[in-house]
Amino acid sequence: MTLHLTGPALRFFEISRSLQPARQVNAVVRPQEGAPVGLFVHLVGNFECLRCRRKSTDRIQTKLLRHEADNSCRDYRVGDAEELVGLGDYCPLDPWDDRSPLVVVVGEWDCRNCGLGWQWAKATFEVRPVAGDPIATLRELVDFRPWQAADLVGVNFADEWLAAFSGLWASGAKYNWFEGIEQWRARPLAERRERVAAGFRQWCREIAGVSHEAEPNASADGGRDSGSS
Ligand SMILES: [Zn+2]
Repeated sequence: MTLHLTGPALRFFEISRSLQPARQVNAVVRPQEGAPVGLFVHLVGNFECLRCRRKSTDRIQTKLLRHEADNSCRDYRVGDAEELVGLGDYCPLDPWDDRSPLVVVVGEWDCRNCGLGWQWAKATFEVRPVAGDPIATLRELVDFRPWQAADLVGVNFADEWLAAFSGLWASGAKYNWFEGIEQWRARPLAERRERVAAGFRQWCREIAGVSHEAEPNASADGGRDSGSS
């Protein structure tokens, strides 16, 4: 379907488009119809759209797991294991001690029903140290909506574009991964969480047209999905 963008939505669309060349260097390469694509794999899960509430099975492109010629574009679901190779492209939050569990916010995925992109998922891995890269087994893959700073407690790493809600990366042509990640690392953990949650709420209001108060499951627990929808 065609997505009609006006006002803030259009601005955001332009910004995100202008960021894509940087993203192609740093992390995920988006496939374009008919064009050759870089190597990546997918994390596959069942997600619920933030806006239209439609549930669907979606694929999240990632370089977090080994992505070589023999497994490029392979789908990984809960229970599947692969070498963990890409944490360096993610933004650190709760310190990770190299042991299980490892919690990474991955993204993003687009709703096929209403077209809303920029949606996130929380991936929990069991990690087994071996010689070379550790082996990560996907144990859980669920919707992730950081309404409050507290929702980021327990997250070890976040996708760079979720972290960018912090405002610590310049937007558009001034975007620079290295400058932003330096700013990110320099901020206390609590401030990183606060900034991401504040940026996410603003994006939800201005772009997605969803407010925290309107969430059916909004409550003192920060709006986590209670599964009662
Ligand atoms: Zn939707």
